[in-house]
Amino acid sequence: MKTTRASASRAKTSPLTRSQTMARVKARNSKPELLVRRMLTDMGYRYRLHRADLPGKPDIAFIGRRKLIFVHGCFWHGHDCRRGAREPKANAAYWRRKIAANRERDQRNCDALGAAGWAVLTVWECALGDRAAMEIRLKDFLSDAASVAGRE
Ligand SMILES: [Zn+2]
Repeated sequence: MKTTRASASRAKTSPLTRSQTMARVKARNSKPELLVRRMLTDMGYRYRLHRADLPGKPDIAFIGRRKLIFVHGCFWHGHDCRRGAREPKANAAYWRRKIAANRERDQRNCDALGAAGWAVLTVWECALGDRAAMEIRLKDFLSDAASVAGRE
């Protein structure tokens, strides 16, 4: 049974799935964030990183536009997707508590930022597979007309 699973995952391995696998393994792996930053740079946007003066230290900040982007790993932030639903084999109860706390903190930060007049976009790791769709989403969020807070 083990060999079947191993060969199946090997067959599917591409650069993207490899980085997604690594993001699952390391809590602070910033590969999804780096990918979004590279996309934004390629699109010609300028931004600030990890503003410590804002709740949740947003990953990417557009100060003049008053817009913020968080790039969340699906597992660590408890996304409602297949990857977010993964149950760790060891210390499952500990991780469940930890992820629930992360979710609550994310929500609190998002609420506080929204109340302070910031528009917040959460980019989920699982959405980065479709790069063209993500570009449209980023462009849409950063356009002057859009100011929708807390979009999923
Ligand atoms: Zn997800």
